[in-house]
Amino acid sequence: MLSDTLRLRVSDSTAARRRFGGKSGKMRNILVVIDMQNDFIDGALGTQEAQAIVGPVIEKIKAYPRADVYATRDTHGADYLDTAEGKKLPVEHCICGTKGWEIHPDIARLLEPSHIVDKPTFGSLVLTRLLEEENEQEEIQVELVGLCTDICVVSNALLLKAALPENTIYVDASCCAGVTPKSHEAALMTMEMCQVGVV
Ligand SMILES: [Zn+2]
Repeated sequence: MLSDTLRLRVSDSTAARRRFGGKSGKMRNILVVIDMQNDFIDGALGTQEAQAIVGPVIEKIKAYPRADVYATRDTHGADYLDTAEGKKLPVEHCICGTKGWEIHPDIARLLEPSHIVDKPTFGSLVLTRLLEEENEQEEIQVELVGLCTDICVVSNALLLKAALPENTIYVDASCCAGVTPKSHEAALMTMEMCQVGVV
């Protein structure tokens, strides 16, 4: 009797989903590539660890259909040093239109221009909204990679976790690099504590 009741409930909800155009039960995997820009790789704020993940990030992107990849660009103006971020980190970087602001060319050519989000600070509410819209169409799970683990990767992972609390959000640690190896590890621990997966 119990199983009949359950079956009835399941078929009811399937019919309801069809009727109201809800989620199909299929899962779409979305990749978010955070700030793989020249200034963070070998420019003003570059590190050896960042240079080392360029190859793995390229392979990661190639494993996804182009339409399922989003990317962010840290984007500042000429007044950067007068901004709140600039006062704490007085190193000009990612000034809009400069070479340092551009995404690494071998990565940029793999991206859909309309899926690149410019963000004026660490986390992007625009990215969050775009992925909420994708999730309305079809349930998504989100993998994040990129730079820097301890600033912009963790900021966006936690924003996405807040926007999509029932969705799987995870980072691939081998495709991320931090300001330092120590702060990279600390950020991975923070994300794990906040139920963002670390693989
Ligand atoms: Zn910045």
